[in-house]
Amino acid sequence: MKCSLGYTFVKASPLPARRLMAYAWPMPSPAVPPPTRDIPAQLKAAEQHCARNGTQLTTLRREVLDLILRADSPLTAYQLLDQLKAIRKSAVPPTVYRTLDFLIENRLIHRIERLNAFTPCTEGEHDHRDAQFLICKKCGSVTEIEDDAITRALAAAAAARGFRPGHAIVELDGICAACAESAPA
Ligand SMILES: [Zn+2]
Ligand SMILES: [Zn+2]
Repeated sequence: MKCSLGYTFVKASPLPARRLMAYAWPMPSPAVPPPTRDIPAQLKAAEQHCARNGTQLTTLRREVLDLILRADSPLTAYQLLDQLKAIRKSAVPPTVYRTLDFLIENRLIHRIERLNAFTPCTEGEHDHRDAQFLICKKCGSVTEIEDDAITRALAAAAAARGFRPGHAIVELDGICAACAESAPA
């Protein structure tokens, strides 16, 4: 597992991830295009990822991941349950929660704390305890960025105050490029 900060970390806390908000982050220019979606390829990659980890992407897990991959914005557990019921009449909340736990543990999806919803991991193999998300307040889309410079900057700022940093999930809200283009400020 990648450990970009070079610390030895204790087991991830079960408490909600620390959320940090910034409102004046400099925007990279030009804008990074959104990743293209090839859902069959993403499912195949997820299957291989699970096999490498000694776990299995069962039909149910695959169905839930497929729903998350197809969504334009993160889905809540209840939205997932509603959609899953169209495929599996017998689906109940524990079915969804257990499956979401599996997908999170296997680093295939992220939970966006602010939205209490789930989004696919788009950054490949990485330590999910350090992640950054751009959340559009207008269309609800979430873009994952995995930028070690942000992680390092937070660690350095914390260390400068004598604080021993662990991990940080950054959820930055604002307006996405597509929305900004359709309604310029
Ligand atoms: Zn990720
Ligand atoms: Zn937007």
